[in-house]
Amino acid sequence: RAKAAGGNRYELADADSDARVIARHSLTNRLPAALDNGEFFIEYQPLVRLTDGTVRGAEALVRWLHPVHGVLGPDQFIPLAESTGLIVPLGRWVLQEAARQARAWRTDGTCEAPLRVNVNLSPSQLRHPALVADTVAVLDSSGLDPSALCLEVTENALIGADEEELRPLRQLADLGVDIALDDFGTGYSNLSYLRRLPVSTLKLDRSFTRGMQCAPADPVDVKIVEGIVSLAHTLDLSVTVEGVETGTQAEHLRVLGCDTAQGWYYARPGPPERLHTLSLVDAAS
Ligand code: C2E
Ligand code: MG
Ligand code: MG
Ligand code: MG
Repeated sequence: RAKAAGGNRYELADADSDARVIARHSLTNRLPAALDNGEFFIEYQPLVRLTDGTVRGAEALVRWLHPVHGVLGPDQFIPLAESTGLIVPLGRWVLQEAARQARAWRTDGTCEAPLRVNVNLSPSQLRHPALVADTVAVLDSSGLDPSALCLEVTENALIGADEEELRPLRQLADLGVDIALDDFGTGYSNLSYLRRLPVSTLKLDRSFTRGMQCAPADPVDVKIVEGIVSLAHTLDLSVTVEGVETGTQAEHLRVLGCDTAQGWYYARPGPPERLHTLSLVDAAS
């Protein structure tokens, strides 16, 4: 049984821990068949430029349409896929599908701005020796320009990585793929470490946007965001903010100089056709 809480947050109804262990076990066992059966699908959430409100692209967020439990969110199965290694073929499928979709957005001629797509990479995908070759193969087969792809890696996945471990990401960045540091501000990375990473975007974690909910905004959060934006811009990085739920937040973050925003205020994650409509509305206004 699955229940949808708050629209697109999916939770198993059984909170009891025995049931959870069983559920986890059976979900894990079913993962490979689910991939073969085509039970995964992707929702896209728009990324909006704060200065003019136009849609610049979308983040691909994977879901599992489980035959018994209904729609499961990534928090319920990505950790399982990660621990069993299935994340590598699953992640490859997400990349392939998202690249195909982005290419379609860019070639159907109706979107004014060329849309880009963001795809999340898990730590084991990052460490996988075929990451660069797989990504290049997907770009080739989809015909997607490397600059239309952004790979999101979490700050925590990169903390402590040495030059050798960063090489695949650097190779991808050299090919023109954007790398974004996801959930930025939740890890404990040394800020000077940022200079050594081949990243072009910081995605500020949702926890920072919370303080922007009221007017006036929380003064401490304002200072923190101000500091991060100025540091990012000094290092020539762009700043994306996650979890923007209200117009007040969007306005505070725009004034603070954040570049791009994502959140329910603009749109919840949804089917690829919806993004298309959104960008048409923006292009028309
Ligand atoms: P993330 O990359 O930080 O993605 C943003 C999450 O915030 C998404 O949750 C999105 O639905 C949610 N969100 C967006 N706007 C708002 C808002 O205004 N308010 C609130 N409260 N939440 C908002 P989702 O889809 O459940 O994904 C959770 C995490 O799962 C993602 O966090 C990402 O780390 C991971 N994930 C999703 N798809 C993939 C994938 O294909 N591969 C891998 N490795 N991880 C994925
Ligand atoms: Mg992400
Ligand atoms: Mg994020
Ligand atoms: Mg997050």
